[in-house]
Amino acid sequence: MYNFSAGPAQLPKEILNKAKEDLLDWHGSGMSVMEMPFTSDEYKAISERAHNDLRKLINLPDDYHILFLQGGAYAHFALVAMNLLGQKQTADYIQTGHWSTRALNEARRYGDINIAASSVSSGFNRIPPYEQWQLNPEAAYCHITTNETANGVQFHDIPKLPIPLVADVTSDFLTRQLDVSQFGLIYASAQKNIGPTGLTIVIIHNTLLNQAMEMVPTVFNYGRQASNNGRVNTPPTYSVYIAGLMFSWLLEQGGIKAIEQANQHKAQRLYEFIDNNSFYQCSVDPSARSIVNVCFELTDMSRTEDFLSEASKKGFVNLKGHGIRGGVRVSLYNAMPIEGVDALVAFMKTYSASQSQ
Ligand code: PLP
Repeated sequence: MYNFSAGPAQLPKEILNKAKEDLLDWHGSGMSVMEMPFTSDEYKAISERAHNDLRKLINLPDDYHILFLQGGAYAHFALVAMNLLGQKQTADYIQTGHWSTRALNEARRYGDINIAASSVSSGFNRIPPYEQWQLNPEAAYCHITTNETANGVQFHDIPKLPIPLVADVTSDFLTRQLDVSQFGLIYASAQKNIGPTGLTIVIIHNTLLNQAMEMVPTVFNYGRQASNNGRVNTPPTYSVYIAGLMFSWLLEQGGIKAIEQANQHKAQRLYEFIDNNSFYQCSVDPSARSIVNVCFELTDMSRTEDFLSEASKKGFVNLKGHGIRGGVRVSLYNAMPIEGVDALVAFMKTYSASQSQ
């Protein structure tokens, strides 16, 4: 079976096996990680290793903090605004699809939100060219969604801006190289490429730490969490443990550069097949196609349901497109092997041939 879920998504088998091995007794401690006090030496070791490995993986400069928080990226749509709008009370948002729209709608409750560029008129099938962005020099930050999970659209060039750039990197974090020093803050829910739900990673530059609104709950005050080593309250300990296993797995694979190459290869294989078979079509502009969420349609959309049902019978599961878009979505996160893509392409070929007879 191949699980193409957009998230929670599949994890590498090695990680699940390691977690199974450790489940009842972590490293002879006599405890499961789930049972450890977060203040214990055992959990501190797990958390420190996860921090250090993540820092190494993304080559994070020393003036950034890594926070292991909760709430999911959806909570941080609001929390980013509450933590960063500060005296300026205004921010720019780039609207590229479903998730950036949700992010800006949440932020609107806390300040003056300007949509500096949008691709809504093209059905969110591209990234608005940077020359057309109408940025406000007085904005506290500019927010982008690096990969639109529901629309299959991804930024392939990250612009250098005169104001802090903030990004929701939920669905492409650790799938490709990212120069974090270009950002003031990035945040990601864990359940695509990192581990189980419950963990939201926030990486924030020192200079943005202390401008939170009074109303921000203490546990979501990025400055308070940073100065307390993320221990203002109980962190999502088990999710951090699995994330740590993922970080060391990624280092063993050769780091992000190696994983990016593998991910490019998988996506290319699928897009090439779709573009050369008239039974399928991808409406996303080739310059903005996501390498992790390949969204496409059957040219005759009335066959979509049958396609999904036949695919599922053959073991290709969770291929249904997001509700706002329909069609088919193939999520190719880090844990999906190229064999899964090859097998899916072979199925798609057979299916289109059988329907064309
Ligand atoms: N941002 C992006 C890009 C997403 O893909 C998702 C979920 O799929 C979210 C935010 C919301 O994440 P959560 O449900 O963990 O809050």
